[in-house]
Amino acid sequence: MKKSLPYGHQWIEKCDIKEVAQILGSDWVTQGPKVEEFEKKVAKYCKAKYAVAVSSGTTALHVAYYSAGLKEGDEVITTPLTFAATSSCLVFLGAKPVFVDINRETLNIDPEEIEKKITKKTKAIAPVDFAGQPCNYDEILKIAKKHNLLVIEDAAHALGSVYNGKRVGGISDITILSFHPVKTITTGEGGMVLTNNKVFYERAKRFRNHGIVKYPQKGGWYYEIKEPAPNYRLTDIQCMLGICQLRKLEKFVTRRRQIVDIYNKAFKSVPEIRSIKEAGRVKSAWHIYPIQLALEKLSAGRKEIFERFQKEGIGVQVHYLPLHLHSFYSNKFNYKKGDFPNAEDYYERAITLPLFPKMKKSDIDFVIKTAKKIINNYKK
Ligand SMILES: *Cc1c(COP(=O)(O)O)cnc(C)c1O
Repeated sequence: MKKSLPYGHQWIEKCDIKEVAQILGSDWVTQGPKVEEFEKKVAKYCKAKYAVAVSSGTTALHVAYYSAGLKEGDEVITTPLTFAATSSCLVFLGAKPVFVDINRETLNIDPEEIEKKITKKTKAIAPVDFAGQPCNYDEILKIAKKHNLLVIEDAAHALGSVYNGKRVGGISDITILSFHPVKTITTGEGGMVLTNNKVFYERAKRFRNHGIVKYPQKGGWYYEIKEPAPNYRLTDIQCMLGICQLRKLEKFVTRRRQIVDIYNKAFKSVPEIRSIKEAGRVKSAWHIYPIQLALEKLSAGRKEIFERFQKEGIGVQVHYLPLHLHSFYSNKFNYKKGDFPNAEDYYERAITLPLFPKMKKSDIDFVIKTAKKIINNYKK
């Protein structure tokens, strides 16, 4: 089989490689001055007061939830339509993920469903900006304030997105980012915790680094362990790459938006394909481009159509099998099929097409042409 076009891909250029190579020859290959520089730059871009760089988006979630004080027995309201990490990091701390269904248009958590699930044990809401599109934060923050809950935003898809004139990263109590290669910018593996709250910030920094607190007045060697914690540090090598990538963030976002625009226009005339609409007051950095198939109008199921895309050389994906349908969640929390009909209906129809800034015009044309050919083939 020929090399297929992936659904997402990093864009690393000569300038990135040159600057990262310089770090390899420096004194700092673990956590050094570039970590702080990268944190400051991301915080400034997002208009957040504090930033803590960590080893992945997943560890950023673990750090964020820990810093917010989540513990055994707490409940956190989140969406079933997300990557495993949003929820598994809650389970690491003994907290319970309480899913609520998505809005069928935006595919984000439905604020109208949130209040129904709030109990005495609820401590936080963990919304996910699906595909890059920020959630309805006016509503979510209002509910959080009314019930005294924290909002911990999983913005792994949404660095560079804007809600109501505000950049993602400066909206919620705590926001996490991922720098995995398919995300907006990359550090190889990497993530970031953003907050305006000094207490959360200090807890995050401590949790990233073994729970260590230094007391220089007691001696240069002296530190205390305040709690047992992992090593979730990011390296100067990775942060140098992050700094280079951050300079290109706006260019990346513009290109992603252009490609989405081209796709949307091309599929407008194809009633069997439904694209995600950008909600009002929102500018999405578009992390992925999931289409939804009008299966009623097609003679084949999603699986057959998915496999056809793969055979044609298009590396499609499905984002995501809703979390409540995974065996762990049904076994441990009794979730079952039928619990969240909107998330399930979306999932049954979803196929993610390639979207990344380095795509050439010929790649985009190839995806559109192939998608139209496949749909035509299975038209009822
Ligand atoms: C990618 C992703 C994560 C995890 O990030 P990693 O850097 O891969 O650990 C968490 N949540 C969502 C929604 C993601 O897409």
